[in-house]
Amino acid sequence: MNKEVIGKLRRILPSAAVVEDETELLVYECDGLPLFKNRPDLVVFPRTTEQVAQVVRLANEYRIPFLPRGAGTGLSGGALAVEGGIVIELQRMNRILSIDIENRIAVVQPGVVNLHISQAAAPYGLYYAPDPSSQMSCSIGGNVAENSGGPHCLKYGMTTNHILAIEMVTARGEIIRLGNPAGEPIGLDLVGVIVGSEGTFGIVTEITVRLLPKPQAVKTLLAAFHSVEECSQTVSDVIAAGIVPSALEFVDAKTIEAVEASVYKAGYPLDAVAALLIEVDGFREGLEETSNAIVEICRRNRAYDVRVAKDDEERAKLWLGRKGAFGAMGRLAPDMITMDAVIPRTRLPEVLVAIDRMSERYGLGVANVFHAGDGNLHPLILFDSRYQDQVEKIFGMSEEIMKLCVDVGGSLSGEHGIGYEKKDFMDLVFTEADLNTMMRVKQVFNPDGLLNPAKIFPSRRGCTEIGKHTTTSTAEIGKKVEAILLGSPQKVQH
Ligand SMILES: Cc1cc2nc3c(=O)[nH]c(=O)nc-3n(C[C@H](O)[C@H](O)[C@H](O)COP(=O)(O)OP(=O)(O)OC[C@H]3O[C@@H](n4cnc5c(N)ncnc54)[C@H](O)[C@@H]3O)c2cc1C
Repeated sequence: MNKEVIGKLRRILPSAAVVEDETELLVYECDGLPLFKNRPDLVVFPRTTEQVAQVVRLANEYRIPFLPRGAGTGLSGGALAVEGGIVIELQRMNRILSIDIENRIAVVQPGVVNLHISQAAAPYGLYYAPDPSSQMSCSIGGNVAENSGGPHCLKYGMTTNHILAIEMVTARGEIIRLGNPAGEPIGLDLVGVIVGSEGTFGIVTEITVRLLPKPQAVKTLLAAFHSVEECSQTVSDVIAAGIVPSALEFVDAKTIEAVEASVYKAGYPLDAVAALLIEVDGFREGLEETSNAIVEICRRNRAYDVRVAKDDEERAKLWLGRKGAFGAMGRLAPDMITMDAVIPRTRLPEVLVAIDRMSERYGLGVANVFHAGDGNLHPLILFDSRYQDQVEKIFGMSEEIMKLCVDVGGSLSGEHGIGYEKKDFMDLVFTEADLNTMMRVKQVFNPDGLLNPAKIFPSRRGCTEIGKHTTTSTAEIGKKVEAILLGSPQKVQH
């Protein structure tokens, strides 16, 4: 990186907040999707909005690509510095600025860890509802960018339903405020446009979130089945009965095997082919009846074991298994990619059977653990990156899974975003006209394409910065990844 730029950055930020050491930069070469790696040229750690804005203006002056990064737990390569440049790491902007109990809102900086908001609000009987399974580490800024979901979003809605206002540094370094902390937005709902724009429309530097009162009562059930079909049918039947559980999570036999062998051991039945973790919450009155109705539906679908957690301790244990499931996969294989797609709930059995067949055909293990209530599928493909043939197969298999999900009427992402991983699948769902419309919106916010380039849109499109890139087929990506995994310091090319 140009010494002049580094010198100027050190005038904006303390010296220790500008990292250029190659070894330290290794940490930032990928996010939670380690299939794609590229080292940024620099990482900076601002503490204030003004510092973010100044860094952005400097990057614009020197035409250097830059991107925001939270905790780096993203699973679609959103925080991958595809073209190198400057990573603006927001984890040091981690203060909860205020909690307004009467109006049930909190104002937070983007680097605040999701769970910390609920912990800070707990003494007032409030909490922040969207709860990604990564909530112990992911940042609220990353959640806003990805419009993240979580087990309890089935009932309470995704991140977008809980963000009232934001402060944002635009791609050219202006500081703007959008939304209305008091409630209804005035004018265009631009907060709705920014939430889910995957760090390509601006850098969010302050967020006003909605807090909810903690439910009066909660009941958590675990139902075990001998077949995927019976388990999936239960999901449909619960929803069809007019019950909206606060969470309805599916875990398969492989996931149970991994969880039970790990520190997240939750007492899941090892002989189950599939199990559901179901939670209902609300007023104490009537909750028992709802819970009984669910037990009845499970039994009707031949659940062989239905357990209702006796107390908070047992509840917490059941959730520990679910929330630790991704981490537990290390028990089954050294590497894993987490796929994310949405399918109509009623198509779950056939899709899971088809994925199982693919798993056999490719010779790669697949575990399934997902938010079944909203049809948000997460096949976890297990592999060993030391074996080149396995790495190559990942690309073919993930493409087949995506096509399958789209063919049954599904979509490319339920919550992890498109990022770098799935940009070339966008054509499966959208027409040329659809994509051009989206790209025009992007052009308004990111006119020079310097902010988080090469994300979301297929690389070959001749619009905004996309025109700079050429098509990268899955096979080509495979070759590059192979080179990266085999240790060549080659940059991700376009
Ligand atoms: C074990 C595990 C479980 C997970 N479970 C879930 C789940 O249940 N539901 C779910 O939705 N996701 C889940 N995820 C994915 C991930 O945690 C979420 O996408 C999360 O929101 C990413 O937050 P982050 O702070 O790590 O963001 P990063 O990975 O650092 O960045 C993600 C994207 O956000 C952008 N970004 C970051 N901060 C800002 C900002 N301040 N302003 C603008 N853009 C920004 C980045 O440029 C990037 O494009 C899981 C991940 C893991 C590893």
